[in-house]
Amino acid sequence: MSSHLAEENARLQRQLSELLEQARRNQDIMQRYQAFDLKFIGANSFQELIDSVFDTLTEASELDVVTLALIDPEHEIRRILSDLRIDISDYPNLLFIEDNSDDTALPSRKPMLGAYNPLLHRRLFPDAVLKPASVAILPLIRRNTLIGWLSLGSLDAQRFTVHMASDFLQHRASIVAICVENVINNERLQHIGLTDPLTGVNNRRYVEKRLLEEVGRTQRHGYPLSCMYIDLDHFKAVNDRYGHQGGDEVLREVAKRIQNELRLSDALGRFGGEEFVVLLIDAPHAVAMAVAERIRHSVDGKSLLLSSGETVHATVSIGVATAAQLERRDAPLPIAQALLSRADTALYRAKKAGRNRVISGDE
Ligand code: GH3
Ligand code: MG
Ligand code: MG
Repeated sequence: MSSHLAEENARLQRQLSELLEQARRNQDIMQRYQAFDLKFIGANSFQELIDSVFDTLTEASELDVVTLALIDPEHEIRRILSDLRIDISDYPNLLFIEDNSDDTALPSRKPMLGAYNPLLHRRLFPDAVLKPASVAILPLIRRNTLIGWLSLGSLDAQRFTVHMASDFLQHRASIVAICVENVINNERLQHIGLTDPLTGVNNRRYVEKRLLEEVGRTQRHGYPLSCMYIDLDHFKAVNDRYGHQGGDEVLREVAKRIQNELRLSDALGRFGGEEFVVLLIDAPHAVAMAVAERIRHSVDGKSLLLSSGETVHATVSIGVATAAQLERRDAPLPIAQALLSRADTALYRAKKAGRNRVISGDE
């Protein structure tokens, strides 16, 4: 009888220590995940969040591949990121889904755990990333709207199985969803603060900030930085004749024509009323002069059609200046101011010389 009790006792002891061990392991996991959550929540920018999702999650959860797919049908998120100079090609694991309405290959709003299935999961694990053996596809939902998927992949086929409980992972995904929405909203706000509402191009604040950064880069790397000051000719007369509304339309169309002549790496900003500034990165003076001439011609060469049906023939005057071989130790601000001022003086000379022309500020 007593030996039976002792046996029973030992069995219970074993069970208890197993349970304790399990509890300790769970606590460990919880703490690790709480550390992630704090890291995600603490991310101030899109870039920081993406880095912590990919690096921290992959490493600490011992996953082989993690992707984040965002639904972005109008390219709005991508446009904001590119305007903020975040290069999405640096992130092969960050995916943008154009449209999920008629795509049966995309998983639903429920988490999906199990074996990797190329038919179902191809879009969430594209060619550029490692193909996992088992996956956990976690929908990111905010305010009842599906905004994307966090997809976890492991080379171990047993890591995620159909029968595994997913509430723990889904909790993680809901935190990631909140953080994604939050950083995108932050970037959106920043973007609004740097955009000219009338023309949609950058505003003066953006160009001034960017000019300082580019002067710094020119100082470090030695490539030339050119700057154009563009002003519409006799714009008061345009307003008088076609009304302020007509004038606004002209400004929008001219901004578009200028932008069309630029490279993605260049920056166009509306500086004031009918004045624009362009920064040409890594462009020597002769190239900048040629681009300016193209811009002048793109405005002069073709009349603009207003929504009223009237046509307007607008022209611009442009001053161009270039900074090259700058001293590294000089302060960037006076260099930036001098560059802008040389372009502005050249513009003034273009006006004096009869308008609708490009003048160099480097002679
Ligand atoms: P110039 O060839 O010497 O540059 O002549 P201008 O008439 O363009 O010169 P000025 O700089 O004196 O006039 C600029 C005009 O641009 C005055 C202002 O009414 C108009 N303007 C400024 N901002 C806006 C705007 O946002 N919309 C419209 N429609 N007009 C604007
Ligand atoms: Mg003007
Ligand atoms: Mg002006």
